[in-house]
Amino acid sequence: MRQQDTILVVEDEPSISDNLIFGLKREGFSGEVVSTGFEAIEKLKGGGVALVVLDVGLPDTTGFEVCKEIRGFSQVPIIFLTARNEEIDRILGLEIGGDDYVCKPFSVRELVARVRVILRRGNGAGALAEPSESVGEVFGPFHLDRERYQISLNERTLNLTRYEYRMLKVFLERPGRVLTREQLMYRVWEEPEASGERTVDAHVKSLRAKMREASPDREYILTHRGIGYSLEF
Ligand code: CA
Repeated sequence: MRQQDTILVVEDEPSISDNLIFGLKREGFSGEVVSTGFEAIEKLKGGGVALVVLDVGLPDTTGFEVCKEIRGFSQVPIIFLTARNEEIDRILGLEIGGDDYVCKPFSVRELVARVRVILRRGNGAGALAEPSESVGEVFGPFHLDRERYQISLNERTLNLTRYEYRMLKVFLERPGRVLTREQLMYRVWEEPEASGERTVDAHVKSLRAKMREASPDREYILTHRGIGYSLEF
């Protein structure tokens, strides 16, 4: 076991952390659990952590505060565990500095898969911000890298959440086609019943904002009133 593959699980609910550690070990990762923000910071300062799974609701502080503090000294990838929708909005806002999130109750298998993807993207510090160099597919000004789960626009890598990435991929694969909110929901979300149509609108909005950063003069996602959205390039 390589030392740098230690996954730090910051979670105060033993039934969740036990499951998670079990799942991580089964897939060849070494995992370690702490139950407070204070311990998490101590552990991280000691080094040797490849990725942090961080619960938002901790006994001594919030995961958001812990994340901010971590970002003061480390770019280690962070996946949030969250139980509430309002928290997702904050994570999506990216002011927090997290890399991804999963909602409770979650599938351990899925979380471990995401740990793997994030670790494959790069080895910690700074790696997430680097532009993609591998060969992918080109759609007009967009570049889709399925291996790295990345999309760039005008050669700038878009800093997308998992659902934004999936949504943009769905659009890119069907240029010019109008997709209803329902179609998007079923193609993008694992449990479409659990998320409303407003979730689709919220993600379109955040996706547009991120695309504007790379391309201020052009709107790629068009709204078709009463029907849905399409992507034109
Ligand atoms: Ca908790």
